[in-house]
Amino acid sequence: MTDYHDRMDRIRNRTGLPPAPKTHTCSTCGYVWLHGQHGGHRCSEYMAKTIDHLKVEVGRLEERDKRHLAYTASLRAQRHDLLMAVGKKYPGETRHETAKRYIVEAETSSN
Ligand SMILES: [Zn+2]
Repeated sequence: MTDYHDRMDRIRNRTGLPPAPKTHTCSTCGYVWLHGQHGGHRCSEYMAKTIDHLKVEVGRLEERDKRHLAYTASLRAQRHDLLMAVGKKYPGETRHETAKRYIVEAETSSN
């Protein structure tokens, strides 16, 4: 922080003005710099860096999405396999409910 900024902070404090913001943000590119430091920058350079960063982030999220889709498909296949093991469908019960009832009955009768 420069002498100028220190002096301005003291004046703000003495006169009851709110303190200066800690940082400033370029309204064009989002570049952030500390109060009292030189905020000079090239928006196009900062935006190019941001675009590169976002491309990496998009790639990461696409990979995560692929893994989630594969996991969901695997769970769906397992669920289908389990439900198809229910040979007889009971009226008023879904296959899921029947399968769950079979499991609960088997678990409680073995005690
Ligand atoms: Zn900018």
